[in-house]
Amino acid sequence: MEDLFAALESIVGPENVLRGSDKDPFLIDWLGKYRGDARAVVRPADTAEVASIVEQCSSRSIPIVPQGGNTSLSGGATPDRSGEAIVLSLARLNKVRSVDPVGNTIAVDAGTILSNVQAAAAAAGRYFPMSLGAEGSCTIGGNLSANAGGVAVLRYGTMRELTLGLEVVLADGRVWDGMTALQKDNTGYSLRDLFIGSEGTLGIITGAVLKLFPSPAARATAFASVSGPKEALSLLSAVRSSCGDRLTAFEFMTSECVDLVRRHVADARMPFDAAQTAVVLIELSDIDSEPGLTSRLEDSLAAAIEAGLVLDAVVAQDRSQAKAFWRLREGISEALVREGGAAKHDVSLPVAAMADFVGAADVAVSCACPGVRPIVFGHLGDGNLHYNLLAPLGMSKEDFAARCAGLSRLVHDETTVRRGSISAEHGVGQLRAAELVRCKPSLDLELMQALKATLDPRRIFNPGKLLADC
Ligand code: FAD
Repeated sequence: MEDLFAALESIVGPENVLRGSDKDPFLIDWLGKYRGDARAVVRPADTAEVASIVEQCSSRSIPIVPQGGNTSLSGGATPDRSGEAIVLSLARLNKVRSVDPVGNTIAVDAGTILSNVQAAAAAAGRYFPMSLGAEGSCTIGGNLSANAGGVAVLRYGTMRELTLGLEVVLADGRVWDGMTALQKDNTGYSLRDLFIGSEGTLGIITGAVLKLFPSPAARATAFASVSGPKEALSLLSAVRSSCGDRLTAFEFMTSECVDLVRRHVADARMPFDAAQTAVVLIELSDIDSEPGLTSRLEDSLAAAIEAGLVLDAVVAQDRSQAKAFWRLREGISEALVREGGAAKHDVSLPVAAMADFVGAADVAVSCACPGVRPIVFGHLGDGNLHYNLLAPLGMSKEDFAARCAGLSRLVHDETTVRRGSISAEHGVGQLRAAELVRCKPSLDLELMQALKATLDPRRIFNPGKLLADC
């Protein structure tokens, strides 16, 4: 393999082919659940270098694991333990190529960190709405490959809806230049959409043209307590009717989530005493004035209280209070890690079926594992729930780990029986690859395998992820 290393070093320079302990941070996932090995971590600086690396690896059938910010929650960017693959880090492809405030687009390298894209849009007086807890580390290429959602999907859509064009290095090293900024193009199959959500299994994304929006000058944020998911759904419908598409986020958390964050996240404060109830975080945004938007939200919540949908509510009086509300929501992932880690499920359901799902899943997992603690939160307006399970108090980590696969099957069965999906936004990765085979219709899998065989005939891209039995 010395000739491979020599070839890689001649492409990116010896300092960008990591072969010692400097590889380590790239070989473990964000949650610390998966640890793999690799021949090397290779750090190209531009599309041409990516293409040359792919050509070298392809001719030797060396697997390539693309990696952006390495914040995947499904082990998607971590190589397997064989040590056969190289990790291709896109972090040095980090340039904003151009901003077009008239066409409302931004063209970026795939390794650009999400918060840097937001900042570049803001500097041009525009807004890039993708926002999620890992935005200071995750990259546009990773967001695209996972088809990330985030907190504003309700209004702006997922990465798929936010993308106009892509540049992709194919398995033979050719570069597909699809960097168009066209809103409309009816000339056949949407090649762009094949790569979005493909988790690095069909090609290496090196650039993207993304949509921008007018900056929402006004925001109004509130916390409301409700009796449970059913009442939260009724509230969602009421707020939608009174606030229209100003509704930007509608985040649901059970009382167990709130309790967990209170215990583990020192700077998280509950705006009222809601120990026994579920809460929702509601955000409106608009280009109009903030006082007008705030009173619209206040009126909407007052009507919901009168109708018996809401038990209590607080509307943030300023941006710092709104930030504190979001801290509670964003602290959940952190609190789960501190509590000892959870069996994670990221399910998507028809919105109307969500309350029923929570009830049925709670019963199923409690019967199988008495005392198990469901920690349920998510983007209720998008039909996306993070249905996490903590071990019963007193059960050892090992005992609980031995039961997790069975519990996950129960949760996924309750999902698929309602025509839901086992991954809404975190991707399949390694975590759900076996379950995908069980839960996805066989014709869907057959078509996906056919696309994989066409675009990556040597199966060098991200083996073991998404289509595990390739
Ligand atoms: P990585 O983790 O490096 O990779 C993710 C996948 O994309 C892997 O399969 C990898 O092989 C592939 N990949 C990476 N770059 C490329 C490329 N250039 N070309 C081809 N394939 C590539 N997700 C949501 O949708 N909504 C949320 O609200 C949300 N909140 C989160 C909060 C936290 C604290 C964390 C840690 C994660 C959260 N996520 C959320 C998950 C999020 O989608 C991913 O973390 C992010 O989109 C991945 O970006 P990344 O650059 O870190 O990609």
